[in-house]
Amino acid sequence: MSDRSQWLTDINGERPQFGSLDHDVSTDIAIIGGGFVGLWTAIALKTLESARRVTLLEAEECGGGASGLNGGFVMSWWPKIASLMRVCGTDDAVWLADETTRAAGELGDYLAAHGVDAEYRGAGWLWTATAPAHVGSWLPVVEAAERLGRSDIFCAVTREELAKRTGSSSHIAGVCETINGTVHPGRLGVALTRIAKKLGVEIYEHTRVMALERTRPAVLRTKRGSVTADRVVIATNAWAASVPELRREFVCVGSAIVATPPIPDRLADIGWTGGESITDSQATVTYYRTTRDGRIIFGKGGGRLYYTGEPSESVFHDPVGIREATADFRRVYPMLADVPLARTWSGPIDRTYDSLPLLGTMPDAPHIIYGIGWSGNGVSPSRIGGRILAGLALGRRERWTENGLVNRHARRFPPEPLRYLGGSLVRAAMMRKDRSEIANRPTSWVDRGLASLAPAGLEDKK
Ligand SMILES: Cc1cc2nc3c(=O)[nH]c(=O)nc-3n(C[C@H](O)[C@H](O)[C@H](O)COP(=O)(O)OP(=O)(O)OC[C@H]3O[C@@H](n4cnc5c(N)ncnc54)[C@H](O)[C@@H]3O)c2cc1C
Repeated sequence: MSDRSQWLTDINGERPQFGSLDHDVSTDIAIIGGGFVGLWTAIALKTLESARRVTLLEAEECGGGASGLNGGFVMSWWPKIASLMRVCGTDDAVWLADETTRAAGELGDYLAAHGVDAEYRGAGWLWTATAPAHVGSWLPVVEAAERLGRSDIFCAVTREELAKRTGSSSHIAGVCETINGTVHPGRLGVALTRIAKKLGVEIYEHTRVMALERTRPAVLRTKRGSVTADRVVIATNAWAASVPELRREFVCVGSAIVATPPIPDRLADIGWTGGESITDSQATVTYYRTTRDGRIIFGKGGGRLYYTGEPSESVFHDPVGIREATADFRRVYPMLADVPLARTWSGPIDRTYDSLPLLGTMPDAPHIIYGIGWSGNGVSPSRIGGRILAGLALGRRERWTENGLVNRHARRFPPEPLRYLGGSLVRAAMMRKDRSEIANRPTSWVDRGLASLAPAGLEDKK
């Protein structure tokens, strides 16, 4: 079975292509990385100050990294409100969470205004429990939202309604965040690349930045050319492990996805026709949704931990992760046991300790800006991140650049080999704990203890 993602397969032939850099250029702002973060940053820069020269360098193809591999969940930051409040204080946390809600709600209109159909569907996100031990996992978040005057963010869903809307009685409790939705990530990547190009962004693909000289102006060295830039934005997701200051701020973990062929009739049979996206409450979370052509896309997060360094090939070919995702798919939808898998794939998650991104300027080189650490929640928040990064690159003093998330002091992971060995031990305990909770068996105190050392999950209850 091919491990090219369904999304990237669907857009075969639709993608605009760009040549590689083969000469020396000079620019105002250079962006390294053509994923959603780099593309939204480029779009924000050109929207704010159209005369600025913006050059984007992508090692492979724009939208072909994590941005072309994800589940396409368009989500807010409300599930992370506790972490946000701890990092930013209440005012900034609520403002940022509201901005992510706005970004999620507006995505469809934004794309329509640009004449783009990226299969956006604002059908809501169901945060569910598939084991008694997980019932109410969302309560601290829902209660926090209510306390903060946002009682309309989440709405209650009865067990019966949940089973009906998800097509599976495995979901025994849950809530709905109505503003969230889904998108076709491949088509979103194509759309953002086209919009950036139209706004005048200079794009080079198949152009890996091999060295970044932090002189002023900075110089980016590639195989056959160089870019001299007043400001540089690093938007390279898990590849940012090559940047010494960022290496200990995040870990690269895997996430794997399996996709069925189009089965619209079977979806109609089980009743999952509303387009809702769904997650459960396992520490190694499962996330699933349908597509416009009637496929199920079923993913599993909290995957294997990788040794510090840029993502290796094995991150993109993870048979164990695929097996785990398949097992959860078969567990939640046993009535689809005869449905084969059409495609499977995996990819890197740049996971921070508190699952919030790292956005800021290098302490000793303020003209070098970074935006990484999306922790598996960057499809929609990358628009907010791009606005922040654009503000930083333009040297603006405004709320986008002066809120508590920017230049924050993040908790660091231990050095290797401790982080790999310790992290793998914790991850194995999380898996065992999830399995015993799903099977309604007691979890050993060792696994409970080890699992409690894990970084924050979907929501942060610590
Ligand atoms: C399996 C999976 C499922 C996910 N599901 C969801 C989801 O449902 N919802 C959600 O919100 N988020 C999800 N995410 C996370 C989401 O995909 C990302 O946070 C989001 O796409 C933002 O990505 P990015 O731009 O930071 O990174 P990327 O898209 O990876 O872009 C970084 C780019 O930098 C390039 N690059 C690296 N090094 C260099 C270099 N030296 N020079 C030039 N270019 C370089 C890479 O080739 C890559 O294209 C998921 C991720 C994965 C892997």
